[in-house]
Amino acid sequence: MKSQHYIDLAERYGAHNYHPLPVVISEAQGVMVKDPEGKVYYDFLSAYSAVNQGHRHPKLIKAITDQLDRCTLTSRAFHNDMMGPFLEKLCHYTGYETALPMNTGAEAIETALKLARRWGVEKKGIADGQQEIIVAENNFHGRTITIVSFSTDPISRNNYGPYTSGFKIVPYDDVAAIEAAITPNTCAVLLEPIQGEAGVYVPSPGYLRAVYELCEANHILFIADEIQTGFCRTGRRFACDHEGVKPHVMALGKALGGGVIPVSAVVADRAVMEVFTPGSHGSTFGGYPLAMAVGIAALEILEDEQLDKNAERLGHIFREFVAAIPCPKMVEVRGKGLLNAVVFEAGFAAWDVCVSLKEAGLLAKQTHGNIIRFAPPLIITEGQLMDGLDIIARVFKDIK
Ligand SMILES: *Cc1c(COP(=O)(O)O)cnc(C)c1O
Repeated sequence: MKSQHYIDLAERYGAHNYHPLPVVISEAQGVMVKDPEGKVYYDFLSAYSAVNQGHRHPKLIKAITDQLDRCTLTSRAFHNDMMGPFLEKLCHYTGYETALPMNTGAEAIETALKLARRWGVEKKGIADGQQEIIVAENNFHGRTITIVSFSTDPISRNNYGPYTSGFKIVPYDDVAAIEAAITPNTCAVLLEPIQGEAGVYVPSPGYLRAVYELCEANHILFIADEIQTGFCRTGRRFACDHEGVKPHVMALGKALGGGVIPVSAVVADRAVMEVFTPGSHGSTFGGYPLAMAVGIAALEILEDEQLDKNAERLGHIFREFVAAIPCPKMVEVRGKGLLNAVVFEAGFAAWDVCVSLKEAGLLAKQTHGNIIRFAPPLIITEGQLMDGLDIIARVFKDIK
């Protein structure tokens, strides 16, 4: 069957809650993907940073097939022999005392919000129902009713009311705005260290540190959503590491599952995590053996292949190269590590550029109309990156 047939089927039988590029992927390996016609493409999206380790990394495929042969699901009614080793590995990797495994990123955020609200009552003495959490404009934290309740993107939020209350929205990259929003009922500040979906918006140097210190001074939890920025994407293990900040809570997901299955988690020290007691939170699949085997392998690859260093080094090459392409419509190249974006003039249709890039053999996706995010798998070699950059240069030079 040809690509158009698969697209037609999805259009006919699927909900139209996405608007994908007109390309069908049927095979993938490393940094390359292939369509049913046999054409190969560089994947410069990496499933929104869920495949940092590259498609079908042999170590991940081995880990999941070995585990499939042993045991897949137990539920948390019983112990399993994979969750403990995974939790230990994740705690060592992140530097926290405890971890709580879930499945999707949105569930990790929901878990962090529940953790913060409970902590607010039990550790800070806020009356239940009065807890407030400060969030930023243009945030993206997932798609549940509670999470879209504090989205400022009308497309994500509209007509899903009644909304969950208890959130205060302030401008991003503005410490004074957070300070002004704090009340005795504030239990947490939730931020993305770099706003990915908003268009790879990197805050001013010192912002994350200042927010952390403000939280410390006011007995408030600083929750970092590192779902997209974590696991080496920005050239450090976590984006907060760029400022030497250890948030009180981190929400993790995407690359924790190595592009194989969804694996997410919340990490925090015991004094915070202990507000969860038996029965107060959970998930049938959270911490299941198959996911734990994948999570361990995903973390080992990040360490063994030093993907933070690769992302840091190649990120500089990417930004320097792209900024030097003669393209009058291009306004800015920004990002950290291998999480980068090219911003075009306001009103410019970046979609058309993404279609041209696809024709030329490279997949990337626009966000907010005039911005294209480039985030290849972190296992990419310098040679492969230069190859991809040549494609980008050819397409950009033709932009009228
Ligand atoms: C993708 C993402 C989420 C949501 O993760 P899902 O697995 O899609 O639920 C939350 N926060 C950020 C920053 C993300 O990039």
